[in-house]
Amino acid sequence: MNLDLSEEHELIRRTVREFALERIAPVAEELDREHRFPYEIVAEIAELGLMGIPVPEEFGGAGGDTLSYAIAIEELTRIDSSVAITVAAHTSLGTMPLLLFGNEEQKRAWLPDLASGKKLAAFGLTEPGAGSDAGASRTRAELRDGEWVIDGAKIFITNAGTDITACVTITALTGEDEISNLIVPNGTSGYVISAPMRKLGWRASDTRELSFQGCAVPECNLLGERGRGFQQFLEILDGGRISIAAMGLGLAQGAYDLAYEYAQERQQFGKPISSFQAVQFQLADMAVEIEAARGLVYRAAWLKDQERPFAKEAAMAKLYTGELSNRVVNHALELHGGYGFMEEYAISRFYRDQKVLEIGEGTNEVQRMVIAKQLGL
Ligand SMILES: Cc1cc2nc3c(=O)[nH]c(=O)nc-3n(C[C@H](O)[C@H](O)[C@H](O)COP(=O)(O)OP(=O)(O)OC[C@H]3O[C@@H](n4cnc5c(N)ncnc54)[C@H](O)[C@@H]3O)c2cc1C
Repeated sequence: MNLDLSEEHELIRRTVREFALERIAPVAEELDREHRFPYEIVAEIAELGLMGIPVPEEFGGAGGDTLSYAIAIEELTRIDSSVAITVAAHTSLGTMPLLLFGNEEQKRAWLPDLASGKKLAAFGLTEPGAGSDAGASRTRAELRDGEWVIDGAKIFITNAGTDITACVTITALTGEDEISNLIVPNGTSGYVISAPMRKLGWRASDTRELSFQGCAVPECNLLGERGRGFQQFLEILDGGRISIAAMGLGLAQGAYDLAYEYAQERQQFGKPISSFQAVQFQLADMAVEIEAARGLVYRAAWLKDQERPFAKEAAMAKLYTGELSNRVVNHALELHGGYGFMEEYAISRFYRDQKVLEIGEGTNEVQRMVIAKQLGL
């Protein structure tokens, strides 16, 4: 057993860490305040080859493994969640369905622009009436004269409406109890994208409501086998959970970093507050749990890289890091006292950005349902 990261993994951590500190940290507060999508940063991340880490090089990706991807997402979230979710949703939800289920023609058509980060992609599963119960989708697609004609709505879809979004893959009912995945290019007539949704956190990321009104796409935009949409999205969500777990880990680490630094600067009763044992114990508890979380996240990624079953471990990592990041960011903000409540302190943004980690890609309850099922219950 070797728990050391390889030189390649250490390199990706250093590269992303340096980039996040130099390029994202100085603008993160402003992007959040202005609810502004980080186009310039996405372009720079694309330059670094980080918009398609797990995509094979033949399709324009970096050909990296899941662990490299998880480390990159962890390091981005350590500085800013909006940028991190933009990369994570683009990779795990936008690009992976095309890589995993696309035919050769679809892969050649879509992947090079997506994996190189020239374009973004989205995945539209959630509907106003179908969230945790994603199988209850009502969006329908009917095959008429060689075209899928789509009617329905999706909600909370990340990356769907940016200026560089190429397409969304949606789940739709293509028959009685039959769900399939369809690729809908942005700009298709009858595909209407709402204004950006106003959110508690992830304010610089793009989240939209989508509506399909007689929206027709060619028959060949069916992704994978007809009727396999349910199994396909479960597989996508299993992989996606590793990236959200990496976000939980990164957010907890980032909140800890801020609290650790602040506790040494802040003087009360004539001493830095870090000299009080009560404060030290809080930081010690955070450090322990973050280390445990890192083990869960990296193991889930490693299992996936070994092509071994990883659904249970991915759900465990997502559940644990979601709840852990909640505890850590809460205590980290408390250690900032009243300053933590002020917007110019990064910890207040971390606090707002945390909550969705316990909701997106399956709530805490849904993770427990997945884990219980995997335990044979
Ligand atoms: C910022 C943001 C970005 C998102 N991005 C995307 C995206 O890109 N693509 C996409 O498809 N979706 C996306 N989502 C949607 C997200 O995955 C859903 O919000 C999530 O799955 C929960 O669904 P819901 O909001 O309908 O909540 P509901 O399913 O209505 O859940 C409400 C509450 O009921 C609980 N609950 C439901 N069923 C059960 C049960 N059987 N047992 C116990 N408790 C239960 C839930 O745990 C939760 O606490 C995003 C959401 C947000 C907020």
